[in-house]
Amino acid sequence: MRSFSCRNCSSQLFFENSVCLTCGTGLGFSREERALVPVDGSGRYIDRAGLEWHVCRNLNLSGCTWLARLEGGQCMACDLTRTRPSDDDSAGLAQFPKAEAAKRHLLVELDARGFSTDGLVFDMLSSTSEDVTIGHAGGVITIDLAEADGARREQIREELGEPYRTMLGHLRHEVGHFMQLRLVTGGERLDRARQLFGDEREDYQAAVSRHYAQGPPAGWWTSYISSYATTHPFEDFAETFAHYLHISDTCETAAAQGLLSTTPPADGPFRDLVRQVWIPLSLALNQINRSMGKDDLYPFVIPEPVLDKLDFIARLAFDANATMQ
Ligand SMILES: [Zn+2]
Ligand SMILES: [Zn+2]
Ligand SMILES: [Zn+2]
Repeated sequence: MRSFSCRNCSSQLFFENSVCLTCGTGLGFSREERALVPVDGSGRYIDRAGLEWHVCRNLNLSGCTWLARLEGGQCMACDLTRTRPSDDDSAGLAQFPKAEAAKRHLLVELDARGFSTDGLVFDMLSSTSEDVTIGHAGGVITIDLAEADGARREQIREELGEPYRTMLGHLRHEVGHFMQLRLVTGGERLDRARQLFGDEREDYQAAVSRHYAQGPPAGWWTSYISSYATTHPFEDFAETFAHYLHISDTCETAAAQGLLSTTPPADGPFRDLVRQVWIPLSLALNQINRSMGKDDLYPFVIPEPVLDKLDFIARLAFDANATMQ
């Protein structure tokens, strides 16, 4: 994530801020400018082209800080949420803002990497009130809002023996399924994907049942980023896509915060960024977390074959606009 500063007082801001904590100026996020911009007392911002923008109507409902075109309307980030907890579902509504905040973070980084979100929608459901399975199908990402609760999420993480589980991580994984569906559709690209991730025509349900019955294959860490990635070629792609976003976004944040002594190569292969910047940075961040008595920030090891997979996904970002038209 890039860094943001207040246009009124120059203080550093967090992406989630709706007000500058130093000078009290109201703020809104402009997707067009990729910036937090000041809004007036009635929540209005006029951009350089003279267009009028208004604070999204969901500011109080979901903490949305984005700007909408119409007064009393909602922003494009909120437009992507097809289903949300009903007005009488107080448990679901309490969990909703955390998931929406992670979703807005995801959208900003997809914009920054050049991935279109056309055709993507979200069902934000809570397993507190119904059965919910986190997943992706045909452009619809379903999120279990109950995982906005840290204790609940940590319990699932332990049960599944996962080293890492966050709301943002879920979104990055699920949007990986969407991107594979949209961008890896045929030709050489599909052939290469099959070489790297395996043949996605493999029976999915059988693969999932095998994974939960037998666990991952021995020595999986020499070819995969996580044990879950071994489940099926689709899951390997989605897991690797999530790591592409973890790494890109965290490197961008570190650069914006002045934490990098090496400049990431601008258009070299992604593996150069991983080797020269990400591995030393993530080791340092793990040490810092340990100094605070916390678990490692990045509890993963990236083997050589995963570098090939990451390179493939980074190429998709370069080619994305041409394919999406
Ligand atoms: Zn300020
Ligand atoms: Zn909104
Ligand atoms: Zn998946």
